Formats: sequence, structure tokens, C-alpha cells
Amino acid sequence: MVRHDQKMHRKFTSIFLVVILLLGIGIARAEVNLDRLSQEDIQKEEAVLAKLEPLVKERLAKGTAPLLTFDEIYQPLNEEEREFLKIFLNLDAKKLGVVLPYRGFARPGTKFIPIKGQRIKDVKAEGNKTKIIGCQYLPDNVYRQYRKMNKAMRRDIHRTLFVDSGYRSAAYQLYLFAFYLRKHDYSVRETAKLVAIAGYSEHGAPDWQAIDFVNIDGVNEDNPGAFENLAEYKWLMKHAAEYGFALSYPRNNPSGISFEPWHWRYEGVKNKMVVN
Ligand SMILES: [Zn+2]
Repeated sequence: MVRHDQKMHRKFTSIFLVVILLLGIGIARAEVNLDRLSQEDIQKEEAVLAKLEPLVKERLAKGTAPLLTFDEIYQPLNEEEREFLKIFLNLDAKKLGVVLPYRGFARPGTKFIPIKGQRIKDVKAEGNKTKIIGCQYLPDNVYRQYRKMNKAMRRDIHRTLFVDSGYRSAAYQLYLFAFYLRKHDYSVRETAKLVAIAGYSEHGAPDWQAIDFVNIDGVNEDNPGAFENLAEYKWLMKHAAEYGFALSYPRNNPSGISFEPWHWRYEGVKNKMVVN
């Protein structure tokens, strides 16, 4: 009987220790106020942005910002700042009402093709000025299919589409989240409505690689109605699936994400029935 009691006692002690341990982990997992960062967190956020801005600026000038890695963005930060930034990598998407599914990150070794010198009309300038889109990247298989599709579009309607936005690494997306957090009065909840959490963007996951298209006249996501009326868009609706591309967010899609006629993802030709 005594032996039995001791056994029971040991059992309860170990369960008790496990519970304490789990509670400890829960407390140790850093969190922030989702509605507005605390004053202390705002200071950390500002310190992180101040340290990352020169790096991002330099990489934007070089055209390599979309390829930033976690090692690169953590490098200028101290331990505390690094841990703070990582909070935005581990946000609870459900709690924030994010309806996008998790898409993951690029696998190491994924080959990206740079797309340089895309010249389109500068809609923000007076007259007929043109501008060159900053260097964009696509995984090589997606790039090849995009080129093929453009060739067919040119043959059919004498028009092509340009890559306004292609691949963006999860690390760059994490930076963008922190950057826009400041612009949204440090509200994680508000920021998450407009900026994808790293891992939830089709732009950062080559298996679901998204392209935001723009045409030669500069019609893009800034003007959804005009984009929808483009001959290029109508051609995509008929033929994109033949090249493995699908409209991610059609009108009235069940996920409730607003209609994005410019945002197409590569799914591979096997799924060619997705667009109809
Ligand atoms: Zn997009």
C-alpha cells in the first residue's frame, strides 16, 4: 500500500511538473498587444526599423530586396530586437481574422530568375513618361511559363503583361509587416488586414507563386476596375490555365478576399481546370 501511494505520489508530481512546464512555455512565448503596441514595444519596433532601413534601402537600390534572407535581416539586430521581430513571424493568424491559408516559405536552393528593365508608362508622371519597374524575381519554372504565356498573348492580341510584383522572401515580407505596422498606428490587427503575415503570402511561396500583373499603360492593382476591362485580362481568363496560371481571388470567392483581377498564381498545367 505504501509503495502504491509512493507511486501515485510520483505520478502526480510528474504531472504537476509537466503542467508547470507548459505554463512556463506559454508565459515565455512573447506576445504583443494586437490592438496597439505598448509604449515599450513601440520603442523596440522603432529600433528594429531604424537598424533595418539602411539594409533594405541598399537592397532596394541593388534590386535584391525581394531575396533578403532571415540571416540578413537578423544580422544588424541585437538579441532582444531579434526576438521582438520574431513575434510577427509567429502571430496567430486565426486570432487576427486572416482568411488566407498558410503557404509556407521557399525551399532552400530554389532558383530565382531576375526580371530587369521592364518599361511601362509612368501613370504618376505628367505626359507620356515611362518608368522601369524595380527588379522582380520568379522561380525559374514559373518564369518560363510566364514567358510562354506572354508570347501567346502577343501572338493573339498584340499585347503582353509585365511583372509588377513577383517573389518576395518571407524575411522581406516580415520586414514589410513591421514597416507597415508603424503606418497603421502600431496596430497588428489593422496591419494584418492589408499586409500578409510572412508565410501567408502567395508571393513568398514558390509552390503557389503569385504574380501581380501590370500592363504597358501602367494599369495595375491601383485600378482594379480598369484592370478588369483590359483585353489582356480577358485573354488571361480564357487562356491562363493553359499555362498553369489561375486567378487566386475571383469575384465572390468563398474565402471572402476581395476580387484581385491582377493577382494570378502558378499552379502547374495539371490544374488547368481551375479557371473557367
Ligand atoms: Zn499579389
